[in-house]
Amino acid sequence: MPSTLAITANTTHYLELEEKYGAHNYHPLPVVLNRGEGVFLYDVDGKRYYDFLSGYSAVNQGHCHPKIIEALIKQAQQLTLTSRAFHNNLLGEYEQYITAFFGYEKVLPMNSGVEAVETAIKLSRKWAYEVKGIAAEQAKIIVCDGNFHGRTISVISFSADPAAKKNYGPFTAGFEMIAFNDLVALEKAFQDKHVAAFLFEPIQGEAGVVVPDAGYFKGVRDLCNEYHVLMVADEIQCGLARTGKMLACDHEQVRPDILILGKALSGGVLPVSAVLCDDDIMMTIKPGEHGSTYGGNPLACAVAITALQILKDENMAANAEAMGILLRNEITKLNSPFISEVRGMGLLNAIVIKHSNPDAAWELCLLLKENGLLAKPTHGDKIRFAPPLIINKEQIMACVGIINTSLKQLV
Ligand code: PLP
Repeated sequence: MPSTLAITANTTHYLELEEKYGAHNYHPLPVVLNRGEGVFLYDVDGKRYYDFLSGYSAVNQGHCHPKIIEALIKQAQQLTLTSRAFHNNLLGEYEQYITAFFGYEKVLPMNSGVEAVETAIKLSRKWAYEVKGIAAEQAKIIVCDGNFHGRTISVISFSADPAAKKNYGPFTAGFEMIAFNDLVALEKAFQDKHVAAFLFEPIQGEAGVVVPDAGYFKGVRDLCNEYHVLMVADEIQCGLARTGKMLACDHEQVRPDILILGKALSGGVLPVSAVLCDDDIMMTIKPGEHGSTYGGNPLACAVAITALQILKDENMAANAEAMGILLRNEITKLNSPFISEVRGMGLLNAIVIKHSNPDAAWELCLLLKENGLLAKPTHGDKIRFAPPLIINKEQIMACVGIINTSLKQLV
């Protein structure tokens, strides 16, 4: 059985340290990594793996991309943090770069993804009261069932996952949940005049790569226009070339009112997130009303400019599109009795496992690890396949071989 596969003494040493001294808030695969390069990760025993998670899509550009590391080192030797009490010479340059890149008037820089989501919620509420004219304390934000937007109290307040909420109450009010991919439910929710915004992931990553019907983004855009509601797209996981376009919303040429980015904005080297929108929304926040010590620090600015430039220069969206089609086709061709569905867009993909053993997805991930590929189950029976966007055809075929071998070993 895979769960009894040998783990070296060297690996055990690191596992025990974490077990003893770290909070047990994750359940990682028993592999200890100490090096990354491109599409590969290496463990402490020197074994090489294909990375099929990419740090939950933070490492779209590949591990330790030389240009990102160069920008990081160069800026780290110059200036890393000033706080926003003073100006720094890179913030304005970065703000100009990223707003032109995505076509918005302003950006608000933050660090982790969930901070950017919190920022978008605050902006939506400010706009509701100061622009739309919703009565004080009445603003409502519509969210989707199956959402994942991070882990703060306010953000878990509208999670549908009981494990994310258990014994963390009381929660933040002002959110209403509807089904994902349901325009009828969205229009019904919009009948309430207190609705300020619709916050959603264009493709639900953590839920197991749930791709909505064609036309959903356009439908959301039209309804938001009709009811004067902000369309707020959390593209932290599905954005930045991951699904075969720079943004998932680009698949339907739709422009959200508020765009939330994170993860691959730094190519995986430090936490960098951002919220983009136009002046009518952004200028509702005044000095002292929101911020973060590290938000907009020069190190992050230098890294983010390079990380974005690389996505474009190396045509990563086009590669994600082509390699995604190949990956899904080749996995489908395996015709495994243990796979009930192969789905995804670009290189954000998942397989759904069908097996009498409820732990089969975990067992398969252990087998994949033994065979040289790292992936992690989500929501029990789904396994996300999301390699760095620089992966090539030969590497995809090698990975499909590993997946095939592992499926055959699954009992
Ligand atoms: N939003 C989405 C869609 C995510 O996938 C995630 C993380 O997985 C987050 C927000 C939270 O980002 P972070 O973990 O950087 O706070």
